[in-house]
Formats: sequence, structure tokens, C-alpha cells
Amino acid sequence: MNTIWLLYFVLIGAVTGSFLNVVIYRLPRGQSIVFPGSHCPACGRAIRWYDNIPLVSWFVLAGRCRRCGSPISHRYIVIEAATTIRMAGLFACYYVLGLRSGVGPFMESWPMFLAHAILLCGLLACAVIDTENFFIPVEITWVCSVIGVASAAFRPHAFMPQVSPTTAAAGLAALAGLAIAARRQTALPRASQAGGYRARAARWGRPSRCSLARSRPPCSDTCRTATSRPWTPTPSR
Ligand SMILES: [Zn+2]
Repeated sequence: MNTIWLLYFVLIGAVTGSFLNVVIYRLPRGQSIVFPGSHCPACGRAIRWYDNIPLVSWFVLAGRCRRCGSPISHRYIVIEAATTIRMAGLFACYYVLGLRSGVGPFMESWPMFLAHAILLCGLLACAVIDTENFFIPVEITWVCSVIGVASAAFRPHAFMPQVSPTTAAAGLAALAGLAIAARRQTALPRASQAGGYRARAARWGRPSRCSLARSRPPCSDTCRTATSRPWTPTPSR
């Protein structure tokens, strides 16, 4: 029975990877992840279903758009493969290899598996978006936070490992920081206006004139005196 479930989660992982590609491409650009449907970023034409099969179509099309011949990024096939491996691997670790104790049969503990799979996918999307754009959309962080807190509150011993009071306090502090970041985000222009996240990344997240040019409000006299210094990345984002 576990083999059937494993094959099922290989398929689910591939489809989820295709969805993550949409999230990774559109969310930083302030676009809807629902509408319009899949289309080529170069020629804008809709992608037919047979050209949009996860893990297959990229190879069939040899990494190029069928209509205009524009190259399709390797990222699409890498994300689909990585999500498939993560989803099927998580199932195998829990229910085939038995690496997590106290899990029980899948039909009893599937909510825990689902929560952990969503958190893994959120982590992957965050990592790729952060690598490409130097920031993490707060929407993904919120979804992961809500799922983490809700699942831990529902069945704390089954869903999450036991933590010390110090770790719990650190978690609450992180939640407070997230709330503050969300408030600051609402004070900035929405993604659909003024170039969205990419503009913010260009302003605050990428190397500009000097390290002081990233301070808020932008510096003036001190910035001019510091332009001869080499740019050094700031650890906080
Ligand atoms: Zn095209």
C-alpha cells in the first residue's frame, strides 16, 4: 500500500513543483498566481496542456517555447524535480524507512505529513526567490507561520518536536518581528504599483552606490564621503 502512496506523491510532487514555479516567478513581480493561466513570458501566448506537463514537457520541448523558440529557464525543471524528490522523500522517510518515530500509519497521521510537506515547499520557494531577488515575500512566510502554529496547536506532540522555554520565546520573538515587518510592508507601495517587489529589492536589497545608500532615510553627506569604499553586503534584509 505504501508503494502506491509513494507513486501518488511522486505525481503530487511534480504538480506541486509546477505550481511553485508559478509562485517563484510571479510573486516577486507582483503578479497574481492564479490569473492569467500559464503563458510564455517572451511571446505571451498561452501554454497548451500538453506543453505544460511537469517533468516531461521541458525535455520534449528541449527547453524552448513551442511558438517563439525562446529558451525556458532550467529553473523550471530543477524546481519540479526538487519538489518531487522532497515530497516523495518525505513520505519515504516517514512511512517506508520509519525514520520518524511515533508517526503511525499514513491514514492516521496524514494531516501531519501534509503540514510538513507544505512547510518544505514554502521553504523551497523562499530559498529560490531569496537567491534570485535578495528578499522573501512575506505572503509565503505568513502561510508557513499559520500552518506551523495551527498544526502545533492542534496536536503539538505529533506535529512538532518538543522545545525548551528559551526556544519557544525565540519563536514568539520571531513572530513579533514578522508582524512588525508586515506592518512596514503595508506602508510601502503595493507590488502592482511602482514596480513591485523588484523595485524594492533594487532599492534596499541590491548593491548600489555604497553600503550607506541602503539606510533609510537615504543618507546624503555621509553617503558621498563613503562612495570610495567597496560595497559590503549587509547581513540583515
Ligand atoms: Zn514563446
